Amino acid sequence: MRTILIVGNWKMNKTASEAAAFVHEITHRLPASPGVECVVAPPFTALESVRAALGSTSAIHLGAQNLFWEDRGAYTGEISAPMLKDLGCRYVILGHSERRALFGEQDDGIQKKLRAALAHDLKPILCIGESLAQRENGNTEDVLRQQLNGALAGLSLHSVTAITIAYEPVWAIGTGKAATIDQAVAAHRTIRAFLATMWPANAADATRILYGGSVTPQNIDALLRSDQIDGALIGGACLHADSFVTIATIAQSIGAKP
Ligand code: PEP
Repeated sequence: MRTILIVGNWKMNKTASEAAAFVHEITHRLPASPGVECVVAPPFTALESVRAALGSTSAIHLGAQNLFWEDRGAYTGEISAPMLKDLGCRYVILGHSERRALFGEQDDGIQKKLRAALAHDLKPILCIGESLAQRENGNTEDVLRQQLNGALAGLSLHSVTAITIAYEPVWAIGTGKAATIDQAVAAHRTIRAFLATMWPANAADATRILYGGSVTPQNIDALLRSDQIDGALIGGACLHADSFVTIATIAQSIGAKP
């Protein structure tokens, strides 16, 4: 069974105090549910206040939006895996398309980050996805395989079960134009088939593959009804308590994937 994972990527939104108030609101409205895991990924500056607001019994886990691969040292402005771990993070988003496009991140660096996360017992959520031009040129499958290979090649098999993949077509992020179910399902099949070429079949089967890109309370049900889609990485809709709680509640009504 693959437990559904609902991840809110807050990006560069909410101060530490706004974040704490928001978390108080959603935790009161969102009971724990065995088939669904929820994660919030606030900015680094709000991790401490969100951890305090979540408390020790919350159904919601803490995630970060990025890390640097070294543990410590002269890397001005960077944050390491041990720092995130110490703040109570369980997950870390890596390779988001905004980091690739705006900050020049490439697969080799993303692989180093992924290894650092795993070495410190953080669960990486690896984001991959094609641009509109790549899709229109018929290159979607190749792009997904290249990004997977670039980030995952050579990892030790005992660590791969901690990894989640997020399929996020770049053209669907923040545009209000989500992928169709058929487009998402086809990409998820490509991803799982490629994982099965690198990993034992049971590890590829057990890996959660999330969809991300303009997920809303209106489309989450149809997305999660597919046996290929194991959850969602959510940007805009996770910033509002009503929409995040609605999405998580719909996910809870669907439950784990066989
Ligand atoms: C994202 O940035 O990962 C994302 C999916 O954003 P949105 O939901 O706003 O499209």
